[in-house]
Amino acid sequence: MLYIAGVGRSGSTLLERMLGALPGCVNTGELNAIFSRVISQDQRCGCGEPFSACPFWTAVGEQAFGGWESVTDRMCRLQQHLVRQRRVPQLAAGVAGPDFRHQLADYLDGYQRLYRAIAQVSGADVVVDASKSAAQLVALRRLRGLDLRVLHLVRDPRGVAHSWTKSGIRKPQSRDGDTMATYPPHRLAVLWTTLEIECGAVAASVPHAARVRYEDLVARPRPTLARAVAALGLSTDPAALDHVGERSVVLEPSHGIAGSRSRFVSGRVELRLDDAWRSSLPVGARRMVTAVTLPHLLGYGYVGRRSDLVAPGAGS
Ligand SMILES: [Zn+2]
Repeated sequence: MLYIAGVGRSGSTLLERMLGALPGCVNTGELNAIFSRVISQDQRCGCGEPFSACPFWTAVGEQAFGGWESVTDRMCRLQQHLVRQRRVPQLAAGVAGPDFRHQLADYLDGYQRLYRAIAQVSGADVVVDASKSAAQLVALRRLRGLDLRVLHLVRDPRGVAHSWTKSGIRKPQSRDGDTMATYPPHRLAVLWTTLEIECGAVAASVPHAARVRYEDLVARPRPTLARAVAALGLSTDPAALDHVGERSVVLEPSHGIAGSRSRFVSGRVELRLDDAWRSSLPVGARRMVTAVTLPHLLGYGYVGRRSDLVAPGAGS
């Protein structure tokens, strides 16, 4: 199982679909949203069908649970109770009472069945899950026998913060006009830092992990993806990346769920860096996000000598 970890609005839908096009891989979207949002709202699958009418997910639900109805409410309740950002220390350290442990085992059994059914129905060896959530990742790490590989996706937090300020953007997969959530930059900066520490720590603790910067993925998709795929112990055959060009990628529709608008674009997709934050994120917010996230900005090469992306003065 290949888990894309990171912060929302970092380009994970694109990355997940690029990985899903590798031989032996299947991309599934954000599986941590399947019970809580996708099924309950009957959101559109990446294939264009409502979830309830998608043949792939209907087969997966039958295979895993004998139908989604039998399990959805229970998995929603368990997730709401157990898999919270504030629970991460408890999930990671395993310090919990018997009730918590029993409920967590029940929740993880649901995801194990789900992953197995996806592999069986798709015929793929590798299931790509773009959930991103650190809490979900820390929980999954407790699943015995799961070959968990982690791709840690990073984007400049000022771009992430800018993306979360945009209001009134319709959720592409929603069928009732729902809009994307917003988040203020000062809270985003703190949350981003916390999530980076957690995702980085889990990635460092598994045998196969890689880190990819969104900006590198868009500017140099082929070598960036090739390095990540090799570090993750997946195919090293150059032909596996035939769908990835110099500045574009060819993507077929998939059965990925949730995610961004790019979920519903297929064919040849031109890759363009979204750096609108440089002109649109207010100076005060930019300075504040820069200050709060500075240790990671330096570590990831977004500012300082290793930066080849930030124009002089742009990050100040
Ligand atoms: Zn579908």
